[in-house]
Amino acid sequence: MNVYDGWRIATMLKHHGFSQTDDVADADIIILNTCAVRAKATDKVFSALGRIRRAKKPDALFGIVGCVAREAGADAFRRIPDLNFVLGPQSYHKLPQILSNPDSRLLDINLGGLEKFDELPQMETSPRVAYIPIQEGCNHVCTYCIVPYTRGPELSRSFESCMADTLHAAKTGAIEICFLGQNVNGYKYTDESGRIYRLSDLIRETAKIPEIMRIRFTSSYPTEMTDDLIKMFATEPKLLPFLNMPIQSGSQSVLTRMNRPYSLELYLDIIRKLKLARPDIQISSDFIVGFPGETDSDFEQTMAIASQIKYINSYSFKYSPRPHTAAALMKDQIPENIKAERLAKLDSYLNEVQRDFNESCIDKTFDCLLEGPDKTGRHLVYRTPYMQQCIVTTDDITTAPALARITITAANKASLRGKFTA
Ligand code: SF4
Repeated sequence: MNVYDGWRIATMLKHHGFSQTDDVADADIIILNTCAVRAKATDKVFSALGRIRRAKKPDALFGIVGCVAREAGADAFRRIPDLNFVLGPQSYHKLPQILSNPDSRLLDINLGGLEKFDELPQMETSPRVAYIPIQEGCNHVCTYCIVPYTRGPELSRSFESCMADTLHAAKTGAIEICFLGQNVNGYKYTDESGRIYRLSDLIRETAKIPEIMRIRFTSSYPTEMTDDLIKMFATEPKLLPFLNMPIQSGSQSVLTRMNRPYSLELYLDIIRKLKLARPDIQISSDFIVGFPGETDSDFEQTMAIASQIKYINSYSFKYSPRPHTAAALMKDQIPENIKAERLAKLDSYLNEVQRDFNESCIDKTFDCLLEGPDKTGRHLVYRTPYMQQCIVTTDDITTAPALARITITAANKASLRGKFTA
């Protein structure tokens, strides 16, 4: 979501005569687009702002947008007095106001709904992978999560505006569409005639666009994985066989305290249905370890579910107390050393599974999407349908196809190697 927001901000500023620079000392405006999901990310924002104010030109404007702006509000001006703007994730389209009045301060952390999508200029060219946000906010209120506070209640964009953005992306260079939302599979839009549109409708319509060869979506909430959506994995070959569906914990009692009231049976049943629809599907998850009150036995249940599902491309984090959340006030906060131990154990297991999965791909052939040259500039990086990084060596990187059939020749836990195949 933040990558998408960054693109839209850059496009908006381009319309105001700006171009991008990597040099802070040369910039006329510096914007930190921020994430508040973990405390560490928030702390980093304020230390980065301190560095920026020392490095920037005296008259350069600087400020923060996104979830930390919403979380900090006017207090950000107290912490960094010469800050020029603080704009929440639904207000960053108002950034031009500070350009016309650079001596003022601009604070807007309101939850303004979906108006930014209509006000922001379209990008002239689209990257190969176009992110299309189809909803904002979340109604689930997991007890550890700050998103319902920073992004507000769940709102789905109209089917027409999602498809207009998707078509625009396809006509300007996109090959892959990634639908985005905090609760993306909860997408639900009712038009004036009363017709209800779901994520499955967006996928079906997008699959008809000839330029679009790959479709995916993130992030999914287990109980929103409805049968119409599961069926898409069987009927739409352009939908990638890869799904991020976070379980967060394998312990039923931890899930209850997280206010994620799905049963493990239901979660496993969804995976069973997904595998029936698409036998080659792989699942990724996010995990939180050390949630308040998590016992050794709770944690072992998380290890057990990880072992049962064999998740790939997963993310695990130590529980991080966030303001405005119920879990931050819970008793039985887990000491940092225990969190760290559990995280290391889970990470090590997830890496092992990833390495096994990567090795199982050797000699298989996939349609892969070009990401670009690697750091050395001598090899190409492609993404498999499972989002693995695949390095390909070729004589001429300038003529590499954007979408290529690649046979995997080698693997380690981080990446694959492959060769073009006819
Ligand atoms: S479903 Fe996701 S975004 Fe919504 S409250 Fe839970 S963790 Fe946060």
